Amino acid sequence: MIVAIDGPAGAGKSTVARALAERLGFSYLDTGAMYRSLTWLGLQRGIPLDEGDRLGVLAREFPVSFDDAGRVFIDGSDVTSAIRQVRVDRMVPVVAAHAEVRDVMRERQRELGSEGDVVIEGRDIGTVVAPGAEVKVYLVADPAIRAGRRQAERPEIGADALATDLKLRDESDAARMRPAADAEEIDTTHLTIEGVVARIEELVRACIPAER
Ligand code: C5P
Repeated sequence: MIVAIDGPAGAGKSTVARALAERLGFSYLDTGAMYRSLTWLGLQRGIPLDEGDRLGVLAREFPVSFDDAGRVFIDGSDVTSAIRQVRVDRMVPVVAAHAEVRDVMRERQRELGSEGDVVIEGRDIGTVVAPGAEVKVYLVADPAIRAGRRQAERPEIGADALATDLKLRDESDAARMRPAADAEEIDTTHLTIEGVVARIEELVRACIPAER
């Protein structure tokens, strides 16, 4: 079974998707980490991030992988922390906008999500990567709440700069931030993580045949 969790930055995707996967005993795939890893590698190698063809080749040559502990690797480096740097936050939508990059990433995401039960989080999972997902959820939250959550993860940046970064990222990601027609939209503004996880768990349980 595939559970697709889409939505903008700060809506609670990662926290919820991780907790849900753990609760259900599903594996977990963070597709944002894949675009972030490629962005990190592009910056590392000095590849101009507007060159989609070169980045597409790089993505194919250096597939992103994850270990069981959730660490992220590309080109032999553990980039788990590095991909959360502000410079990566700012540049990742530029990299993710290239069709050449998306083709490679989506192919790999389908491959990684093809075995067993998995919770996949991203922007285009319910619409493009896994349109056949049994459960599709689209998380949203007030911009101020989203900025506040991001602030907790990036204490080194000022609140104004962070709100601006989030707004710019939303604008660049807008083309990919569409809920699937059959996704359940959950507004996490006033909900606890526990509350959101419990709601999605209900949707999942409703899909699992009684004999499983
Ligand atoms: O979810 P996260 O904030 O880590 O995603 C980082 C960036 O990766 C997003 O802002 C977006 O540009 C890109 N992304 C994407 N499609 C996905 C997941 C992430 O374009 N499925």
